[in-house]
Amino acid sequence: TAIPVRDLLLERIRDVADYPKPGVMFKDITPLLADPAAFGALTESLAELCTRHGATKVVGLEARGFILAAPAALRAGLGFVPVRKAGKLPGATLAQAYELEYGTAEIEVHAEDLNAGDRVMVIDDVLATGGTAGASLQLIRRAGADVAGVAVLMELGFLNGRLRLAEELGGAPLEAL
Ligand code: AMP
Repeated sequence: TAIPVRDLLLERIRDVADYPKPGVMFKDITPLLADPAAFGALTESLAELCTRHGATKVVGLEARGFILAAPAALRAGLGFVPVRKAGKLPGATLAQAYELEYGTAEIEVHAEDLNAGDRVMVIDDVLATGGTAGASLQLIRRAGADVAGVAVLMELGFLNGRLRLAEELGGAPLEAL
């Protein structure tokens, strides 16, 4: 019988202790990306979530979100929009700052890529505190677009990102594979 997708994915995620700094358990997805069965199953699952929640566009969050979101978008027959760290996009952008544990960060999107009438699914590898995903939802709404949901490979439940995101989600689904 076929291995359940969840087990296939879990088996290919590597825990790296104390990276990039002491106390952090880094979730390394490179073994998963290197395995076409696991990467393919992940792509299928993400694409299915886009379809199920009626997305018309897919946002990927820099950098690992790009790797997951681009093939899922194509598989679902949708366009891909990169949300990048500040200063990387050449055109006119919308920017959104958000709080980190120490200090702040800023993300940007090309203003022309998100419009009224779009229904956007946000994809990333890991939901940790939810700060990055939350800022991306603010960008989407400021652009006049609707949020279809957030889909991640992993949610680190002990960091309560789901709680922090509740307001920005506004009832839209948060899916963790
Ligand atoms: P946050 O804004 O706190 O939800 O952080 C999410 C971003 O940081 C995602 O883009 C993840 O790729 C990355 N990230 C946070 N924590 C981890 C972790 N333990 N392992 C791998 N990536 C992480």
